[in-house]
Amino acid sequence: SKTAYVRTKPHLNIGTMGHVDHGKTTLTAAITKVLSERGAGAFVPFDRIDRAPEEARRGITINLAHVEYETDTRHYAHVDMPGHADYVKNMVTGAAQLDGAVLVVSAVDGVMPQTAEHVLLARQVGVDHIVVALNKADAGDDELTDLVELEVRELLTAHGYGGDSVPVVRVSGLGALQGDPRWTASIEALLDAVDTYVPTPERYVDAPFLMPIENVLTITGRGTVVTGAVERGTVRVGDRVEVLGADTETVVTGVETFGKPMDRAEAGDNVALLLRGVPRDAVRRGHVVARPGSVVPRRRFTARVYVLSAREGGRTTPVTTGYRPQFYIRTADVVGDVDLGGTGVARPGETVTMTVELGRDVPLEPGLGFAVREGGRTVGAGTVSELL
Ligand code: GDP
Ligand code: MG
Repeated sequence: SKTAYVRTKPHLNIGTMGHVDHGKTTLTAAITKVLSERGAGAFVPFDRIDRAPEEARRGITINLAHVEYETDTRHYAHVDMPGHADYVKNMVTGAAQLDGAVLVVSAVDGVMPQTAEHVLLARQVGVDHIVVALNKADAGDDELTDLVELEVRELLTAHGYGGDSVPVVRVSGLGALQGDPRWTASIEALLDAVDTYVPTPERYVDAPFLMPIENVLTITGRGTVVTGAVERGTVRVGDRVEVLGADTETVVTGVETFGKPMDRAEAGDNVALLLRGVPRDAVRRGHVVARPGSVVPRRRFTARVYVLSAREGGRTTPVTTGYRPQFYIRTADVVGDVDLGGTGVARPGETVTMTVELGRDVPLEPGLGFAVREGGRTVGAGTVSELL
């Protein structure tokens, strides 16, 4: 039988961000290698991270790899994403709920467009703590690296991250992967910086249980399993839950994290829940598992929405009243009608207030973040203001 997951340390969700080819995946692999040598987790090689499980639905690919590791003081779930579009999607939709991020900047290349965009994105989705990995330090010269460091600190300051106090650690993911002691030590220094600089978040453990479903699987002989990150509250084996979207109530008969059974999962945990007697095709990504009666699904709300500029991959033309894009809310994908009121126009690069009427009811609440998508790309990021 499997070893149970024992909660001995606080759990945090972190991830690598940064421009393509600056070494995010290499660094992720290097972290698992360095920690596995201390006996704190399994080494996950580059190829396994870069071939993240893909889920294609309605032509939209959600692509992110989770690796798990422990430092002396914490348990981490770390996400790495292959391409820039994956960052926009996973971060604004909340699929990657990061408590902190490691911004990877190549010491050889410096700040590049996606470096800046990921910092902007992190700010918008409420990632409050960033640690910088100045990667490829093996290949850069010291003077150039000093300049890159200044550049990164300025960028962070410009986005309200207090660039002067953000830890910037010079590392070589490649060097550490190759076993070079100097660069192995650099990865340890980076992890120390994450441990100390990124605070343990306040979890909404006391709130009623809620988990957006990311994936549905069938385990032969056991039944239907739904996976996702617990947004708030706790859940244990034997709890009654409601599946919003499937309009069904059931009992949780198993709780696991990274393949290990646990008796109680709490806000922030990435878990798989076994649901009693629920057919595989009754539930799907986008549905929400919650304590019965604790949420009422709604469809009309006002929101503040940032319309991405063309440079950020957004539209080149304004949005007007009558616009009907897709709304990504938690893990759900729902069509909605936009009413811009007054002038009725929102230009790319602007932040506006809009009224939205969704095509179906979903669990909503003020402060909830969402993405606006059109033709398979993200064109806006918003927050629910008021339910109507
Ligand atoms: P990603 O796109 O940010 O995930 O970048 P990858 O991890 O795929 O790395 C891109 C390229 O940079 C690969 O050829 C790596 O071998 C190389 N690379 C990554 N980290 C380092 C490093 O620390 N030093 C050097 N010299 N090359 C690196
Ligand atoms: Mg990569």
